[in-house]
Amino acid sequence: MSRIAYVNGRYVPFHSAKVHIEDRGYQFADAVYEVCEVRAGRLVDARRHLDRLDRSLGALHMPMPMSRAALGVVLHEVVRRNRVDHGTVYLQISRGVARRDLAFPTAAAPSVVVTARALNRDRIAALAATGISAVSVPDNRWGRVDIKTVGLLPNVLARQAAIDRGAREAWFVDHGGAVTEAASANAWIVTEQGRLVTRRADHAILGGITRAVVFEVAKAQKLDVDERPFTLEEAYAAREAFITSASQIVVPVVRIDGRTVGDGKPGPLAVALRREFHRFAEEE
Ligand code: PLP
Repeated sequence: MSRIAYVNGRYVPFHSAKVHIEDRGYQFADAVYEVCEVRAGRLVDARRHLDRLDRSLGALHMPMPMSRAALGVVLHEVVRRNRVDHGTVYLQISRGVARRDLAFPTAAAPSVVVTARALNRDRIAALAATGISAVSVPDNRWGRVDIKTVGLLPNVLARQAAIDRGAREAWFVDHGGAVTEAASANAWIVTEQGRLVTRRADHAILGGITRAVVFEVAKAQKLDVDERPFTLEEAYAAREAFITSASQIVVPVVRIDGRTVGDGKPGPLAVALRREFHRFAEEE
């Protein structure tokens, strides 16, 4: 079956899906995006993802290109046309096509692109069952990574640095030695006292939708969560560590910079949060 993408009002074959070379997303990363999990053909937490999209667009003074209901229809339609049962749907909105100039164009229509792809659930489950390795990298990103823009070059370099060092994920560390988040996920630890710790969702991290749902799961399980910065040293000494993101849900981190976290196996809290996650996520 050939893949279909949505581009500016049309459903087109994937191989011929294109935006113009002067699209501001391409030239300036002047674009925002969302990635939403698809489970049994349905969007997971779409409402929260679209709320965050609103915030990202608002922060960049970009209008919502269509009504939320219409956007929902497009997202579902792309999932349906690609027959994605389990996977992700990707939405990108740029400020549009205009003569190359930093200032906002006066009359550009936003470019809207939606794609969907299947993910190998067994592969992610296998990763979660063994846990992954992470390496630390300096957080050299700009000061508004809470806005979900496509300007991901530091994340690209961080992920590659992780792979080059034999790991799967990178954890960004700020000037003060505190972990901010992972290259494409939020970072968490469990302290010796059994408290969950993750950084407060300020301008220094992306406020993950999965992170928000994990708070609800943790509350239902009567687990204490501290929203505060934690240092790399604390992470090395943690009982457990894990990451959260829409495409992977909860994945234990069992090694950081070559040091074993806890007993080197996925910890019970991460496993429980992963297992319970979809009871708390919203499915349409
Ligand atoms: N932090 C970064 C930098 C990300 O790229 C992502 C997801 O792609 C997340 C956190 C997790 O966000 P969510 O749970 O909404 O997928």
